[in-house]
Amino acid sequence: MARQKTLRELQELPIIKGFRPLWLRPRYGRAITLHLEEYEVLRLVDYEGQTHEEAAELMKVSRPTVTRIYESARKKLGAALVEGRSFLIEGGDVSVSQTHYLCEECQHRLSLPLDAETPALCPACGTERLVNLNDCFVRGCQRCSRCK
Ligand SMILES: [Zn+2]
Ligand SMILES: [Zn+2]
Repeated sequence: MARQKTLRELQELPIIKGFRPLWLRPRYGRAITLHLEEYEVLRLVDYEGQTHEEAAELMKVSRPTVTRIYESARKKLGAALVEGRSFLIEGGDVSVSQTHYLCEECQHRLSLPLDAETPALCPACGTERLVNLNDCFVRGCQRCSRCK
């Protein structure tokens, strides 16, 4: 029987799908894939300055797991930077505790409970260009300009 993988809980989702290098033609065949839990650890540790213990608590995993994810993420970013490779953020063993939206018009961000109804309009600018980031990252929504 396959062992149930422990899912790493995410507080946020990225607002970009990845990066491509200036100067070089992006070669997506050589792109590096950064998993969503790797993005989350970099966000919590490098961006917010949290300790690995604090990140572990938020992600509901052990401290050594966070350290392992962190080291893998740093290695990938280092390779992308030095070798001039694009990277994509996708996949991973993750769960999200909320639905995250991003407005393609004004970049407004919104997080709602998973069972809340999808808002029709962006509360900040009133356009219909609110994108469900959970959809984008889970399966590639094919609806927003980012996923097409
Ligand atoms: Zn907006
Ligand atoms: Zn999308």
